[in-house]
Amino acid sequence: MPGADGSVGERNAVVCGSLEKKMGIKASATCVMNFDDATGYLIGPESEGLECMFTFMNTARIGTAIQGVGPAELSYQWALEYAKERRSMRALSGKKDPEHVADSLIHHADVRRMLLTQKAIAEGGRAMLYDAARLADHMVEGHAAGDAEKAAKYDDKLGFLTPILKGFLTELGNEAANLGMQVFGGHGYIREHGMEQIARDTRIATLYEGTTGIQALDLLGRKVLLTTKGGAVRDFTARIANFARKHLTDRRLRPFAVELLKLTAQWNLLTVRIMLAARKDRDVVSSASYDFLMYSGYVTMAYMWARQAAAAADRLDNGGDDSEAFYKTKLATAEFYYERLLPRAQAHASSMLSPSKNLMQISADDMAFTG
Ligand SMILES: Cc1cc2nc3c(=O)[nH]c(=O)nc-3n(C[C@H](O)[C@H](O)[C@H](O)COP(=O)(O)OP(=O)(O)OC[C@H]3O[C@@H](n4cnc5c(N)ncnc54)[C@H](O)[C@@H]3O)c2cc1C
Repeated sequence: MPGADGSVGERNAVVCGSLEKKMGIKASATCVMNFDDATGYLIGPESEGLECMFTFMNTARIGTAIQGVGPAELSYQWALEYAKERRSMRALSGKKDPEHVADSLIHHADVRRMLLTQKAIAEGGRAMLYDAARLADHMVEGHAAGDAEKAAKYDDKLGFLTPILKGFLTELGNEAANLGMQVFGGHGYIREHGMEQIARDTRIATLYEGTTGIQALDLLGRKVLLTTKGGAVRDFTARIANFARKHLTDRRLRPFAVELLKLTAQWNLLTVRIMLAARKDRDVVSSASYDFLMYSGYVTMAYMWARQAAAAADRLDNGGDDSEAFYKTKLATAEFYYERLLPRAQAHASSMLSPSKNLMQISADDMAFTG
């Protein structure tokens, strides 16, 4: 510690307890620091430490959401390459590669389910992050122009989306990384292909900077119920509904627009029902929170897929920088997302409305019964 004259004084009682042996992110050297009996220095305003921490914490949460999406993309690229090379059995609809003894994996519908799930997560997640980045830009513009109202407005919009991005995209990033291993079969489990490393490195993203459970509490408990009384959901769903109404007449976009309008109504209804249930039973805020977060994530990603589909349809009609095949693939991936992944939102809706009793009725002691 520095002496009053700046000279080197007594050693502060700060010691490194150990280096952590982790499941993944091995290149990131983290350690346990012990501060017992150490002298601390106040580096910000008194009693505002938690508030100050949240300014960087929100940035870190969005950064961690990116850590869900990046590995999904990487895992997809490697799995796609492998699925084209590796051969196993014949496609059910008849030989696809007759010059070979077997067809490549990419011709099996179930392998396509895995690959397209990864693709839809990576591209849908990326769109969610770009959208958040635009909100952050508007917020910074507000600050730069001295327009506090604009800055606060976009800060609130980003604040609502932050736990959704962090919780949902890291959960789905893990799913995508695991699917990548699965496409590789037994070779995915063997280290030399690198697929298991992607799964290990992604695993921490649902944990640090606030676990999924804590993001879910922040979203439902704080951002939706406490601070805005459902207003945050009303505001965001109004934006989605506005977009959907504009695309009802386009035959390619209508199915997405109709589904989005149904979901915006449902999201508000679910919020009101949970608000009412939580008045009678406080455990509901926690018991419904994870499903509420995941539901919110699937609907937000559906909005992003519809926007990508709308952009692709527009470029197909009016010309764009990419190939026709690229835009058609966008529309087909949007269709896959709506028909194969979005139905999961309904399972979350049903689960979140179930009573907290089914989680709380077994005593802590009786939880030990197994068998
Ligand atoms: C490799 C690594 C590096 C890290 N680096 C840093 C760092 O640099 N700086 C730093 O400050 N921290 C760091 N952390 C800490 C990290 O942010 C925490 O581990 C994480 O926030 C989870 O907190 P916890 O471990 O205390 O879990 P706990 O709070 O004990 O949670 C355990 C489980 O219970 C759930 N849970 C807890 N409370 C509730 C509740 N009220 N309602 C519902 N569910 C609940 C959680 O969701 C979780 O599933 C790091 C962690 C790791 C693993």
